[in-house]
Amino acid sequence: MSVIANNLQAVLVRIAHACRLAGRSADDVRLLAVSKAWPTDSVLAAAAAGQRAFGESYVQEALAKMNATHDAGLEWHFIGPLQSNKTQKVAEHFAWVHAIDRVKLAERLSAQRPAALPPLQVCVQVNVSGEASKSGCRPEAALALCQAVAALPRLSLRGLMTIPQPTDDPAAQRAAFGRLRRLQEQLCAAGLPLDTLSMGMSDDLEAAIAEGATIVRVGTAIFGERNNP
Ligand SMILES: *Cc1c(COP(=O)(O)O)cnc(C)c1O
Repeated sequence: MSVIANNLQAVLVRIAHACRLAGRSADDVRLLAVSKAWPTDSVLAAAAAGQRAFGESYVQEALAKMNATHDAGLEWHFIGPLQSNKTQKVAEHFAWVHAIDRVKLAERLSAQRPAALPPLQVCVQVNVSGEASKSGCRPEAALALCQAVAALPRLSLRGLMTIPQPTDDPAAQRAAFGRLRRLQEQLCAAGLPLDTLSMGMSDDLEAAIAEGATIVRVGTAIFGERNNP
């Protein structure tokens, strides 16, 4: 087995174990393999081991990998921060966007989503770590943002995403993920049909699953340490 196939298997075992501890079905948690900074060959190795959904943060890098893996039937998720002037290619080529943090971004993606494709599946990113983090909308702003996104014709609002301030303390990890879950519950009670919680990465996926994650976004534990530029 390739190193990547081995790592992937180990991550799936971690997910299954965390689900069992939480009394959840392993089918309720999808693994998104975050392949940013890794070449097409790494994507193909994971795909050969059965992985279908891949997460990317840089548009040009992702497009190159999509082209090179065109026949593999992979599903691509844009997870990085997105500048408004880079929305066109994302609307044209991705199945999901996880980092909607303002109405303007959502409006552009909806307007640019090709009619021939299904609606773009999106999550609103929320900052649950206060001043420690700058990405995502404030929890107080999530209701209005979600309502605006839900009204856009070419987007399908699926749920919430967060990247908490990193910490080694499992209780602190769970506290942050629990804030996102409670927010989802409030928004559902307000009538928004949110079925997705995109939370948990290589170092904290167990805490995220314990708090209800339905998509975990895992890079390092599958592909190895990234060389930061
Ligand atoms: C890079 C990245 C990940 C993966 O993080 P790892 O620690 O490598 O698992 C997950 N989510 C987002 C938004 C990322 O940018």
